[in-house]
Amino acid sequence: MHDPDCLFCKIIAGQIPSSKVYEDEDMLVFKDIHPAAPVHLLMVPKLHIASMAQVGAEQAPLLGRMLAKAPQLALDNGCNPYPQGGFRLMVNTGEEGGQEVHHLHIHLLGGPRPWKKG
Ligand code: 5GP
Ligand code: ZN
Repeated sequence: MHDPDCLFCKIIAGQIPSSKVYEDEDMLVFKDIHPAAPVHLLMVPKLHIASMAQVGAEQAPLLGRMLAKAPQLALDNGCNPYPQGGFRLMVNTGEEGGQEVHHLHIHLLGGPRPWKKG
């Protein structure tokens, strides 16, 4: 399912360029255009799901596979190893949750501090 007006659906379809770091049948992972930390990736399901507010049991396997990919993505893209290093996963949801792009995405932030946010 794709939304022709959705920015991340357009990136997934290759209509808008992105700095892709990983892709499989479930997800596309690319660099955030305005990084808030030395490593700032966006993990985006290929399926158009507007936000975490629409997620239920049906999406649990997909989200599980996405979360399980985070440790490898972090290390492969410059995050330092746990525990001195590590990373932060963040899912902004809805206006009050700070969500700007309404296609579900997991922010993966890491690298040496200080960061711009948090
Ligand atoms: P949100 O605020 O919805 O959680 O996060 C949206 C993120 O998408 C922001 O961090 C923003 O910098 C990033 N972003 C917005 N437009 C683009 C774009 O065209 N390309 C890329 N790579 N990132 C984008
Ligand atoms: Zn979309």
